[in-house]
Amino acid sequence: MIRVGDAAKAPEFPVAAKRALGNPQLRQNVRRATEIIRNKRAIVVGEMPDWEQLRESAHEIKEHVLRHLDFYLEQFENACTRAGGHVHWARDADEANRLVIDIIQGHGEREIIKVKTMTSDETRLNVALEAAAIVPYETDLADLIIQLGHDRPSHIVVPALHKNRAEIRELFQRTMKLETLGPEPQDLTNAARAFLREKFLRVKVGFSGANFAIADTGSVCVVESEGNGRMCVTLPTLLVTLVGIEKIIPTFGDLEVFLQLLSRSATGERMNPYNSIWTGVRLGDGPEEFHVVLLDNGRTKVLADEASRETLDCIRCAACLNACPVYRQTGGHAYGSIYSGPIGAILTPQLQSMEHSTSLPYASSLCGACYEVCPVKINIPEILIHLRRRIVDAHAPLGERLGMKAAAIAFGDSSRLSIAQKLARAAQWPFKRGDHVSTLPWPLGAWTATRDLPAVPSESFREWWAKRDRRQP
Ligand code: SF4
Repeated sequence: MIRVGDAAKAPEFPVAAKRALGNPQLRQNVRRATEIIRNKRAIVVGEMPDWEQLRESAHEIKEHVLRHLDFYLEQFENACTRAGGHVHWARDADEANRLVIDIIQGHGEREIIKVKTMTSDETRLNVALEAAAIVPYETDLADLIIQLGHDRPSHIVVPALHKNRAEIRELFQRTMKLETLGPEPQDLTNAARAFLREKFLRVKVGFSGANFAIADTGSVCVVESEGNGRMCVTLPTLLVTLVGIEKIIPTFGDLEVFLQLLSRSATGERMNPYNSIWTGVRLGDGPEEFHVVLLDNGRTKVLADEASRETLDCIRCAACLNACPVYRQTGGHAYGSIYSGPIGAILTPQLQSMEHSTSLPYASSLCGACYEVCPVKINIPEILIHLRRRIVDAHAPLGERLGMKAAAIAFGDSSRLSIAQKLARAAQWPFKRGDHVSTLPWPLGAWTATRDLPAVPSESFREWWAKRDRRQP
């Protein structure tokens, strides 16, 4: 079954956003955190004279990959297999979860340590693991906070961004039984470190996602900043990686472009502290067995729509979230998906064949801030409009479709437009208040319930122009 976390059951964005807007603590946490990251990003991006060329290169590489995805996926499979890895293909979330569970159970293991991976949140892997009596331990600090609090991620890069330090301290005190825990950031990271260290040394199965899968070498790359990822992909004897098929890049050399863009866009750092790249297995060095599961889960359907396929170019840096005036007010939970903000608004409904989350493409002011900051130049505003068109074509009520048809007829000819204006002028009379119409009867009342409608002027431009011509000598 194709699944994007619990997005298919989430409430519509306007309902969830209203709830989020009523939580001042959440709004303050989100505003403060996004402002810090945005400012850091602006400084390090400003240092790069070739930033625009890098963005252009990244866009071109990704577009090239999407045009030849079948070729690069097979190239990756062959290279990874030659290096001693095992490659599996998963059509959807359930198939991916089943494959991962079978591999773990095949080794008689009951616990795994996980690097931060949104793709496993997409398939709801942790729920499937727990149902199979396998215990997953999140090792990324923010993901650990989410797991301990039975919470949901609200940001792509900083999943616990909606929590402040006091809330995290209270959570750690309660769940780790640390009554004397101090309030400083170092106290909190030391507590997490002590909690996780024992698991790093004991658990035999590591699990990761991937930022990039490199076709020509069959390598996998994970970018992170805490060092937990490095532990998860080197200490266990068995390593399983789940990768969305769009994460393929053609060559090892292409990493040069993406690693410069990703760290600056995601966290405002010049370079990421830990870039782990591995190729298959090597005797006496790291895991003895390596499996990679290549996940479709709706991606090939996104690929089929030429007007919006560049959604798959995304490298999950979250710069568009931090720049978005809507996200900065509501935070991520209002999007009802693990993918929030502008990229979530276009990715989530498309992965689900536009059957769910159809309120998300409207969760945007179309200001273009997301496009300006996107390191791979995804034209999010254009895709939002394209998706709105698809939604209207598929779901618009009969009345709206008839109304649009009537408008098209009226606007198609100047004399028809003139008649329509005269009719509208007469019809608005009982509802007109000064220069606007404030309340219209059903079904048009839905429009005026939250907006004023400018009144049809007493004279159209054409009528004024015709009169002026008559007055000319
Ligand atoms: S759409 Fe662009 S800015 Fe947004 S997360 Fe993806 S790569 Fe980053």
